[in-house]
Amino acid sequence: MVRPTAVFPSWPGDAEVAVALTFDVDGAAPWISEGPEYARRLTMLSQGEFGPGRGLVRVLDLLADRGIPATFYVPGHTADQHPEAITAILEAGHEVGHHGYLHRGSDPLDAADQRIELEQGLTALAKHGIRPAGYRSPGWELTTETLGMLAELGFSYDSSLMADDRPYWEDSGGKPLLEIPGHWSLCDWPYFGYTAYHGGLLADPAAVERSWLEEFESARQDRRAVTYTMHPEAIGRGYLLRMLERVISGMTTRGRPWFATHAQIAELAGQPD
Ligand SMILES: [Zn+2]
Repeated sequence: MVRPTAVFPSWPGDAEVAVALTFDVDGAAPWISEGPEYARRLTMLSQGEFGPGRGLVRVLDLLADRGIPATFYVPGHTADQHPEAITAILEAGHEVGHHGYLHRGSDPLDAADQRIELEQGLTALAKHGIRPAGYRSPGWELTTETLGMLAELGFSYDSSLMADDRPYWEDSGGKPLLEIPGHWSLCDWPYFGYTAYHGGLLADPAAVERSWLEEFESARQDRRAVTYTMHPEAIGRGYLLRMLERVISGMTTRGRPWFATHAQIAELAGQPD
């Protein structure tokens, strides 16, 4: 199926490319949602807790140092358990998007439970005065049912699908919804996520740095938007934060990026014809 891409006549200023740095602040929610047996696995849970704690502080410090706005996708559970993390994100002027409540993948849930996950997430974010414009499905497994509810619930964009590397229009219950796509290759988790039970790769950051800058170069030549997806529990480790610093520096020396939140990009997209 050919999907209509969103038209962006130009980026603000003389920017050649829109770069969205996005961070999923999952915390312990993905592990708790896997089953009650995880409630006693303290090491696994503490690895998640590194994200909204130490990892997030590092990420926020770097963004402040570079003057870059970013989008943070936050499960409602993280917002409830770490209200200080949400306050810090908001006080720094960043965007907060919806990332489920307990980070439950929507594909095993029926439509009613998918709606509950969406509504509980909205309720948790509303406690902080947040009315999220965007949604990213936990585990990047969006379903027809959840996609169909997003416009009705007031979302203006989604960042879960991968049918193009440019923003494009999806149908959400008969209404247009902007899709701002990501990809696993532009996510830190497949390279650097590791747990005792699920394993992982623990890749060489220099190789990922090269890949991410090559994607930036492609996006710059296309004059398109590009999204990088990260998790403070991974990218917030000391050696990986240094990689992110080099990636940002590499972008600013190679070209003229516009570092933007997803909401800022969505606002420029207008409406489909
Ligand atoms: Zn997540």
